[in-house]
Amino acid sequence: MTVTRFAPSPNGPLHLGHAYSAIVAHDLAEQSGGRFLLRIEDIDGARSRPELADEFRRDLEWLGLEWEEVPAQSTRLASYEAAAQRLLDEGLLYRCTCTRAEIEALEPRMGPEGMVYPGTCKHGNHDAMRPHALRLDMEKALARTGPLTWEDALQGPQQATPQEFGDVVLVRKDAPASYHLAATMDDAADGVTLVTRGADLFAASHIHRLLQALLGLPVPRWHHHALLLDSDGKKLAKRRGSPSLADRRAAGEDGKALAQSLRMGQIPCGITLSRSPHGDT
Ligand code: GLU
Repeated sequence: MTVTRFAPSPNGPLHLGHAYSAIVAHDLAEQSGGRFLLRIEDIDGARSRPELADEFRRDLEWLGLEWEEVPAQSTRLASYEAAAQRLLDEGLLYRCTCTRAEIEALEPRMGPEGMVYPGTCKHGNHDAMRPHALRLDMEKALARTGPLTWEDALQGPQQATPQEFGDVVLVRKDAPASYHLAATMDDAADGVTLVTRGADLFAASHIHRLLQALLGLPVPRWHHHALLLDSDGKKLAKRRGSPSLADRRAAGEDGKALAQSLRMGQIPCGITLSRSPHGDT
């Protein structure tokens, strides 16, 4: 039985790209007689707008989808803390007080997620009075796990290459977990067997695979679907003028008909579906 999920963050309204993502996940579960889960990823305290979660539910209903909702991330902080503590006790995390500007000033190399941390705080030379994040010591982590593989339903078998990200943050200064730790823990807790999400998060799966190995979590399969792109080839986003699903609902558009067109690959005018697994056209 396939268990998929749609895991939106309530920091902005959903748009067509989210609708596509939810439909893909929903349909993959349905085709296997499985379960489709909704998880609100509201770990981002300052940017989270709780009222948006209700809008998200209305959007999914409008699209004609049925789902099971699992607990939101804000209710699971203790599990993230416990996982981080375990990795800390095992010597796999270190405290880092560097600010973005400080890291930038060192002109570090760029990785899949932006700047790769140059390791300034790795040897304990941080200021104990400043707020700290916890970073994964990638070298130690990989020495612990050895080579890892994972499988994407569309792209086939993958060799995990989390080292490209360097020492990623697992516990943020301002939140009890980073996206990587929270999503990995939650997918395991929710029994997700097929992690379905956009190709823009393809690279993140290398890290998630590593975290599963370090934390002894079950290993799902992944399905990174193509992205809807605007006429400039950029991912759809509200800030670039892509109308939200809530706007479309309010304008009286038929959500089920829209969902049906998306399923058939009929994308509204001016929008294209990315062809490469990494979301480029
Ligand atoms: N919460 C993430 C987002 O809204 C999605 C995370 C995921 O699907 O793994 O972009």
